[in-house]
Amino acid sequence: MHVVVPKPLRTFGRHPLAALVLTLAGLAAQPTAAEELAKNLFGAKTLPAVAAPQSIGFYSKGCFAGGVAIPLDGPKWEVMRPSRNRRWGHPTMIALIEKLSRDAAADGWPGLLVGDISQPRGGPMLTGHASHQIGLDADIWLTPMPDRKLSINQRENMSATLLVDEKTHLVKDAIWVPAHMRLLRRAASYPEVERILVNPGIKKKLCDTVKGDRAWLRKVRPFWGHDYHFHIRIGCQPGSPNCKRQDATAPGEGCDKSLDWWFTEEPWRPNKNPDRPKARDVMTMASLPAECQAVLDGPDPASAEVVTYYGDGVAVAAATTAPVLAAAPPPARASVSGTGALPASVNAFAATPEIGIPLPRPRPGN
Ligand SMILES: [Zn+2]
Repeated sequence: MHVVVPKPLRTFGRHPLAALVLTLAGLAAQPTAAEELAKNLFGAKTLPAVAAPQSIGFYSKGCFAGGVAIPLDGPKWEVMRPSRNRRWGHPTMIALIEKLSRDAAADGWPGLLVGDISQPRGGPMLTGHASHQIGLDADIWLTPMPDRKLSINQRENMSATLLVDEKTHLVKDAIWVPAHMRLLRRAASYPEVERILVNPGIKKKLCDTVKGDRAWLRKVRPFWGHDYHFHIRIGCQPGSPNCKRQDATAPGEGCDKSLDWWFTEEPWRPNKNPDRPKARDVMTMASLPAECQAVLDGPDPASAEVVTYYGDGVAVAAATTAPVLAAAPPPARASVSGTGALPASVNAFAATPEIGIPLPRPRPGN
């Protein structure tokens, strides 16, 4: 078997040959328990750890306890790709999606198709995202919920509509409607939401067309992908002392040179090092915050049902149970403030550190 070694062979992690070893995954010896990949351990968990809700670590390197699920169906949402079991999040995230579904419906959006949130205990995933690890990220499709209920089969297989032309990176005007703008504006309106990731073409469309109040455009950040869904990221929540916030970036609408960069050739150059493994594919438990081992070892709830969030007024069972971690006081149930000014301390609009200044590299999922 001939193995092409990427040139130059970059160091990855502590071991310069790790990248090469991973290209030989099929031939490599099984890792010992201590080196078991975190994505396998977290990917195998079907239920959250019963504990007070707590996000640990960073969006792209962490886990969470006390997660709750959004039901597969709600009055104004449907969960897509249910077999992935990624409908889990911090209670505040789940409550926010439920609230967005109602508010968006009032704005004229028929309902949300909910994409990936997190695995039951977060952590790195077997496929897909770099982030979504601490229960504070969620993907929402830019396709409205159809007026007929989707079958499970349709939810697994239905294709999404790409809103952006892959060559020009501009929004397809034939399918972009004002309701898309209103949906994004509504999502950005919540104080909990720090960032919304969209394709650069969508950001440009907003920059070119939004009238009146444009302050919310600060939260809407261009990123690779995100041409059929948008990504909502909320900030670290109370009770999560080990949740790592994002760094702040300069204020502004972001309709400037930083956006122009996306319409140059540079961000879209082919990846020079396609075999370089993604961070989520090499993380072991040693890569994650130490508390994530306790999350992994935490007790299961009696069922998914008892940790499913049914909206305002319905208690979430997990929050009433003894925490497994030395955690902060559990909220009786999630609450989302729909109004109110952004507190000065909220570190919104921050850059995503693992990305930094984007370089022509493999497009991270999100
Ligand atoms: Zn996402």
